[in-house]
Order: sequence, then C-alpha cells, then structure tokens
Amino acid sequence: MFDNLSNRLDGIVKRLRGKGRLTEADVDEIMKEIRAALLEADVNVTVVRSVCNRIREHAIGATRSQALDPGQQVVKAVNDELVRILGGETLTVQYASKPPTVILMAGLQGSGKTTATGKLALWFKSQGRQPLLVGADLQRPAAVEQLRTLGRQVDVPVYSDPEDPILTAYEGVEEAKRLGRDVVIVDTAGRLSIDAEMMEQVRLISGAVSPDYTFLVIDAMTGQDAVQTAEAFHETLQIDGVILSKLDGDARGGAALSVKEVIGRPIAFASTGEKLDAFEQFHPDRMASRILGMGDVLTLIEQAERAFEADQAEQAAARMMEGEFTLDDFLEQMQAIKKMGSLKSIMSMMPGMPKELKNAEIDDEMLVPIEAMISSMTAEERARPQIINGSRRGRIAKGAGVEPGEVNRLVKQFGDMQKMMKKMGMTGGGKKGKGKRG
Ligand code: GDP
Repeated sequence: MFDNLSNRLDGIVKRLRGKGRLTEADVDEIMKEIRAALLEADVNVTVVRSVCNRIREHAIGATRSQALDPGQQVVKAVNDELVRILGGETLTVQYASKPPTVILMAGLQGSGKTTATGKLALWFKSQGRQPLLVGADLQRPAAVEQLRTLGRQVDVPVYSDPEDPILTAYEGVEEAKRLGRDVVIVDTAGRLSIDAEMMEQVRLISGAVSPDYTFLVIDAMTGQDAVQTAEAFHETLQIDGVILSKLDGDARGGAALSVKEVIGRPIAFASTGEKLDAFEQFHPDRMASRILGMGDVLTLIEQAERAFEADQAEQAAARMMEGEFTLDDFLEQMQAIKKMGSLKSIMSMMPGMPKELKNAEIDDEMLVPIEAMISSMTAEERARPQIINGSRRGRIAKGAGVEPGEVNRLVKQFGDMQKMMKKMGMTGGGKKGKGKRG
C-alpha cells in the first residue's frame, strides 16, 4: 500500500537529509517532485494544491532560517502534512454511557462492508466488548448468510429478520439490550453506485437506531471515485469515520489521502486482507512514517504482542543465545511470525529496510516447504539435525514433498544460524524476548 508514493517520497527525503543549505531553487525542485508524487498516487488535485502550498511555506521558511539542517525541517513539514491529511489523531471510540453503543456500517456494494462488519466485531472483542451483529442488508441475497458465517467465525451472535431492513435494525438493538451485548454493529445494504433508494433506506435505518458512530467503508482500490462516494454518503448520514478496505491491494492510496481533507472525517480503521484479523486502527502518524520510509515500529510491536506468547518468546530468545535453539523452536517462531501478518507487510513496517527488499516479491508460500520438512522430522532429528544422514534425508524429503537437496539446504542454513546465534550470545547479547508485553 502506498508503495509508489512511498518510493518517491523516500527518494526526496534521502536527498534532503544530506543538504547543508537549501536555496529557493532547491525548494522549487523539491515541490515539483512532491506534487508529481502525490498526483501520481491519485491524490485529489485540490488536496494536492493545498498540501503543497503548506509544505512550500515551511520549506521557504527553512531556507531563510539559520537552522543547521534545513533538509530535516522540510522532511518534518512533509511528515506533518501527511499526518494532517491522513486525519491527525487516531479515533478513540467513546462508548455510550447507556449500552449498547450502536455502530452503523454504510458503503457501496462490494466495498468490503460485510467483511469489515465481521472484522470490527472481532476488534471490539479484543477491546473486551461483547458485540452483536445485525444483518440489515436484505438487498444482496447472500449478505445475511455471509454475516452469519462471519459471526460464527468470530463467535458473535447475529440478528436478522428477513421481513424488513429498518425493523431488523431497530429490533437488533432491542435484542442486544435483552442479551446484554454492549456493542451493536448494523450491516446495511449497498448498491453498485450511489442511488437514491439506497440512501433513503440507510437514512431510515439510521433514524431507527440513532447510531453512536456511522462508519463508511471505502474500497481503497476505487481511486478518485472514493471522494465522490464519501461526499454523497456524508451528506445523507453524517459520517463519523471511514474504514478503508483492501489496503493490501496495489491501490495507489490517493483516496486515503483525500477523503479526510474532503469530508473532514478521519480514517478510523484499515482493512488489509481477507483474513479476519487483517484489520487495524488507523494511526495517521504511523502511516505517515511508513510512507516516508521511516518504518512503523509501534504497529509491528503490537502485532508481535498479539502473535507471541510473552514467555514463549523470551524462553526461545534465551535458548537462542545459548546456542540451544532447536528446529522445534525455529518452527514455533516461524508460525508466530506468520500470525503477525504476511511477510511482506511485516517487512514494509521495518525501519531502515532497504526499498529493494521491501518491494521484493516475498511470498508466504516460501515458508510452506520449510514447515513441511520440519514437521516430517522426528523429535530427535529436530533437536540434533546433524544426525540426518542420507536415508533420513530421503524419508524427510518424501514426507514433505520436496527434493532431498532442499532438506540439506535447510539443515545447513539452520546450522549456520545456530553458530551465529551462539557467537552473538557469547559476546554478551541481551536475553530479552522481543514479544514481551509492556
Ligand atoms: P460488501 O458487498 O460491501 O458487503 O462486500 P464484501 O464484504 O462481501 O466484500 C467484497 C469482496 O472483497 C469479498 O470477496 C471480500 O473477501 C473482499 N474483501 C473485503 N475486504 C478486503 C480486504 O481488506 N482485502 C482484500 N484483499 N479483500 C477484501
């Protein structure tokens, strides 16, 4: 996500950092590049104009000030602008003093609204809440069934009445009160494009349930249309926040960078994949750092905390340093890393990760044969891979469906890794686990 924009801005930032002095001609040159980068990323023209004006003002200020590092000041101005147009602060959900807190989901058909409804329920559960899902999308025949499936997956009850969407929404809130559920998320019907009848229905539903929050789901892949969609929904519904879906695609990201500026409402959540936990709160400051190639360490740590059991990670790290790390530990760590998200998304959040690596096609499938090979080994082989001889190698390869040469390579790489860890351990590397809960 935002890959192209990130690549271009990263290049500008790198050059700026080295600059001792900055002339007005430099500023003109930089502004031309920033404008081109934003336009290419599909950011709305009006937004580009106002953003560039503000950055330019800072940049000109930097050429005149006696500051030591004017380049750094411009980088800061770009960063501040990105944070601003991405919405400033992270949205904090204020729960209704008299439960349930009602959330209304709106959006076009195919935007990922139903998926986001399920994901949001899981997110509320992670916040210690007990949500109830309401299926008021009676337009798309399979929508309620899809919601029921999602409900089962996240273990959250689903209410729906096939008779009438408005009644369903109203009754859904009553049902939540009866069941003592403290959050209600109402999925509503979308259409392929903005349409008066759909707007009227969602307006009536909104009137029937008086939502505490109305979230608009926008598909990041739709580009500039997203801005018009957002404007139309905002006119009817008073949107409180946007849920940006499909940020895992090759979207240029411009929609994300325009919606806040146009409707004045922040992006609240980002949906980054088909899996239910591929969903996170949107943090403008972290996203800006990610775009500028400064990494997103905080999100990485949060994901690690979710994926690793603290003790398990600490023990593994200790064993690692003592050179007692086995293939079993290796497999366990690999599985935990996989839980954090795709390898590509993890790499994209690491600060200082070279662009070539970030953009390399890293396929999670690459882990599959490694996992299969380790699973085909006996406990003894995992603990002491050096005992793997020709016949054992043949057996493991057959079990994992790979060539014996691959088993050899894994054992050798693992041996090298073990040696390296032992060395690091002896030279006094710390023993702290990285997944420790703070
Ligand atoms: P709705 O019509 O708005 O309710 O859309 P759905 O929730 O049914 O989503 C439409 C399609 O987009 C489905 O195939 C989803 O699996 C897919 N989808 C939803 N969110 C995401 C996402 O964040 N990333 C990806 N890659 N696909 C998504």
